Amino acid sequence: MKVINDNCCTWIKQLTARDNVKSLRHDLHCDYLIIGAGYTGLSAARKLSEISKAKKIVVVDAQLAGEGGSARNSGYLVDTTLNDGFTSISDIENYKKKVKIFELGIKSIKKYIREHQVECEWNECGKFFASSLIKDRAKATSFSNLLTNLGFKNKILFNEDLKQKLGTSFYNIGVYTSGGILLNPAKLVRSMIDSLPENIDLFENSELLNWKKINKKVECVFAKNKIISDKVIFCTNGFLKSLKVKKNYSFPITLTASMTRPLTDKEFINIGSPKEWGVLPIRPMGATIRMTKDRRILIRNTAEFKNPFSMNPKNLRDRAKIHEKGIQKRFPSLPKNIIQDSWSGVVCRSGNSSQIFEKIDNNVFVAGCYNGSGIGVGTLFGEQIALMASEQQSEEISILEKRKKPNLLPPQPFLNIGIYSKLAYERFRARTEI
Ligand SMILES: Cc1cc2nc3c(=O)[nH]c(=O)nc-3n(C[C@H](O)[C@H](O)[C@H](O)COP(=O)(O)OP(=O)(O)OC[C@H]3O[C@@H](n4cnc5c(N)ncnc54)[C@H](O)[C@@H]3O)c2cc1C
Repeated sequence: MKVINDNCCTWIKQLTARDNVKSLRHDLHCDYLIIGAGYTGLSAARKLSEISKAKKIVVVDAQLAGEGGSARNSGYLVDTTLNDGFTSISDIENYKKKVKIFELGIKSIKKYIREHQVECEWNECGKFFASSLIKDRAKATSFSNLLTNLGFKNKILFNEDLKQKLGTSFYNIGVYTSGGILLNPAKLVRSMIDSLPENIDLFENSELLNWKKINKKVECVFAKNKIISDKVIFCTNGFLKSLKVKKNYSFPITLTASMTRPLTDKEFINIGSPKEWGVLPIRPMGATIRMTKDRRILIRNTAEFKNPFSMNPKNLRDRAKIHEKGIQKRFPSLPKNIIQDSWSGVVCRSGNSSQIFEKIDNNVFVAGCYNGSGIGVGTLFGEQIALMASEQQSEEISILEKRKKPNLLPPQPFLNIGIYSKLAYERFRARTEI
């Protein structure tokens, strides 16, 4: 795994550098080994430590903890979704189970934030699903009806209302839902690192290369050392497949995003001085775009299957041009070249947008595959997989077990052909929304 555009995410750059980074330098034995230190792995570690104070718990990450998708995302803590990347809602029963999981995820984060007094720019301002195409009114209306039936407060909005709220006349139809939360994802995950209990050892820049079961233990091989653990929990999300964990059930998708500098007073007044907001696209593959508290614009409008593990600077610059176009068409009064940083990040997808939460062997567990909803769901799944690995039950686990399970992906080359064609088709359909 190569992470080569590490220093260019605004959220990460705004944090102070840590001075307690340790890498794996010797062989180890432990009771629990957690692979991946994002929301999922850190939440699993926190919960395990709560359950088993006397156990030896180790967390490893291939890069700096939290600096994968967990710090690089757009910061929407969602209660509802319209598109899961490139799949739309077809099955209401399944959707109900999904929003129940979102609800539990929000509850987990709220509890965590309350207990640890976390400051992560939390804003319960809701979110908009919007489109520039008035023909998307039918989709917006049926989504709004679904939300109303499920008890989610929402409102359909048209161009003028949207312009007033967002400061752009780009959108012609939208659904506002009041339940979503906007936050600073890097501050949230950093607090999870800082609040790790003392009985947890965290080793960073320590990539797991290989693993196998030996008798009743799991042997994990790193560049120079080994860890032998009684139990292992995989929390590597988009990197599950590369570690051959549930490899026929999920695949990585690389997203890119850019953030502008803060708008000047004049620029901000020109667009109507909107309050902080977040828009998700009605059409899959359209842009996710946010106005942050400090008047920056965040845009994410690319998703690709090609070369998921790295994004070289040239490729990233090319994606940043697409981001710039997206900002320009929404805010033509703003100057070009206001993008300050661009970055990529990896998410995990399954064929039917279902998450992975499983005991895959007596002592091997896995949680991940949340597409664009890992803030809350990752935190919830991390806590619950820790309970499962400790042979405990919970009401949440029973709910998670009832969700639709990821389906078996087709073999190659059909898988790649299928993903490329689906992405290309959705990209074409959303070409006005990028
Ligand atoms: C641009 C972007 C925008 C997004 N927007 C949103 C959003 O608005 N809302 C939302 O809820 N979600 C969003 N997501 C998705 C969200 O970021 C993820 O679902 C979430 O980060 C998953 O958390 P995680 O801990 O499971 O995985 P990650 O945060 O990806 O952490 C996995 C960790 O595993 C480590 N790892 C991988 N391989 C190895 C190995 N071999 N050895 C050791 N460690 C390894 C990685 O370095 C990484 O730190 C977005 C993602 C991106 C990239």
